[in-house]
Amino acid sequence: MEGNQPVFCKMYMCLEACKKGFFGGMEKMKQQDEKAWIWIHKRPPQNWSRAYFASHFKCDIFLNNLCESFNSRIIDARDKAILTCLERIMVYIMLRMANRRIAARHWKHPVGPRIFKIIEKNKLGASQCIPVMAGDKKFLVQHMYGAEFVVDLRAKTCFCRRWDLCGIPCPHAISCIFSMDENVYDYTHDCYKQEAYLNSYDPIVHPVPSMDQWKKTGLPAISPPLYKKQPGRPKISRTKEVGEVQAPAPPPPNPIPQDYIPPPARLTRIFVKTEISSSIVKGKGVGTS
Ligand SMILES: [Zn+2]
Repeated sequence: MEGNQPVFCKMYMCLEACKKGFFGGMEKMKQQDEKAWIWIHKRPPQNWSRAYFASHFKCDIFLNNLCESFNSRIIDARDKAILTCLERIMVYIMLRMANRRIAARHWKHPVGPRIFKIIEKNKLGASQCIPVMAGDKKFLVQHMYGAEFVVDLRAKTCFCRRWDLCGIPCPHAISCIFSMDENVYDYTHDCYKQEAYLNSYDPIVHPVPSMDQWKKTGLPAISPPLYKKQPGRPKISRTKEVGEVQAPAPPPPNPIPQDYIPPPARLTRIFVKTEISSSIVKGKGVGTS
């Protein structure tokens, strides 16, 4: 990154433009900020544009925040000793696996509740589509707002690419499935089905008894590594990027008292490049503000 915030702003604009046309969005970016266009043009679009994502992954998520989610769950364990830290992570994963396994056995539909909601929403969208059969399970779908899409039920693809990328039938595809009097879940990818989910959560993380019940081996205990205290206060939360998150203002009390003063808005962190003169460095040092 070239240190310019607008680079990322333009990138998100381009993602929005993927719906209308990747090249159109890139051209628009070039007109607005050529430096950003050059920067992003060097990156392979398979890594950041849905228009180029491979369809066999069945995932259209640009940032899944998997690491951040995991880190937020183990935040109270991270500053503990290594054994305590690992034990807490083990208990967390053991519980999670068990809970997910039990929850999946009680699903009311062939897919999980989140996917069920998406399919129900897409079913509503299907009412705005008119499928016209071309033969061999191929359809031309006319949307009420004018766009036309080609759906292939046999290949499980739609020209809008949502079905290809996610494996969940899009509204255009569902309109075709309904016209064939078939079940939407038969066209949903197997990775969302109960069997796949149970297979994922099938392994059991076996519980471990407390340390005093461990078998004695007679070998000398393993010493902890030498500890060198790092300068400064230990960090717990991750440093946010510039302009990444703006904390929402807390809701005012209800009813609002007469002498109520709203708390000041929390500002995002701004990084300012400063230069330190050599005379200060040679002297007593620099204080922090
Ligand atoms: Zn579609």
